[in-house]
Amino acid sequence: MPTDHATTSFTDVWVPKTAILGQLNHGLSVAQCFVHGNRIRQAASSLGAANYCVQESIEYAKTRKPFGRALIYNQAIQFPLVRLATQIEMLRLLIYKTAWQRDRTEKSRIEEVLTDRISMCNYWANALCCEAADRAIQVHGAIGYSRHKPFEHIYRHHRRYRITEGSEEIQMRRVGAKLAGLTHSGRKSESKTKL
Ligand SMILES: Cc1cc2nc3c(=O)[nH]c(=O)nc-3n(C[C@H](O)[C@H](O)[C@H](O)COP(=O)(O)OP(=O)(O)OC[C@H]3O[C@@H](n4cnc5c(N)ncnc54)[C@H](O)[C@@H]3O)c2cc1C
Repeated sequence: MPTDHATTSFTDVWVPKTAILGQLNHGLSVAQCFVHGNRIRQAASSLGAANYCVQESIEYAKTRKPFGRALIYNQAIQFPLVRLATQIEMLRLLIYKTAWQRDRTEKSRIEEVLTDRISMCNYWANALCCEAADRAIQVHGAIGYSRHKPFEHIYRHHRRYRITEGSEEIQMRRVGAKLAGLTHSGRKSESKTKL
């Protein structure tokens, strides 16, 4: 996303009561509603792109025949794709389950009930997609590295997701806090996660 960013500043801003979203001084939880939706959307998007990279690699490896033998017959080509395909299958189910639960959870409780699952989907899917794009470049060789194939674009686009909308460290921090029975600010929480 090679764009410039504008600088914005606000001075003496007055906001009427009717324009307040949610409760006064509770803006973060309003913002989190958006963030939770976007984190799981990003995860689904990364999963789809990862799957595309694997499928394209398989098709290419079937047709590319250096010295007369299709690349796909080599286990050094197969095994990394097997690991990716396995993770894609597992992650798809976690994303479906989490999205299904999110649809059934009252908005005000999503933070407490599902934030760790959403973060799990997000950080794993984004990293998986980068790994799959990298592997696709490797399987395709030089043409994979070039812009005749979409893999470098996929890598760069999804690499961004590991920073924005909560970096992967922040996602893992959320999961870690839930596992340890802490709130995301590091305080002890009332509720415990059932894994
Ligand atoms: C392409 C792109 C688009 C963006 N679009 C938007 C947008 O539309 N709206 C918007 O508001 N922002 C946007 N951002 C900004 C993005 O939200 C921030 O870059 C992101 O939150 C990380 O903040 P930072 O860059 O200041 O990194 P820092 O906060 O300086 O973090 C640097 C590194 O330290 C790690 N880190 C920070 N705190 C901790 C911690 N407590 N524990 C462990 N590790 C930690 C981070 O994970 C990161 O790896 C965009 C950024 C990019 C690259």
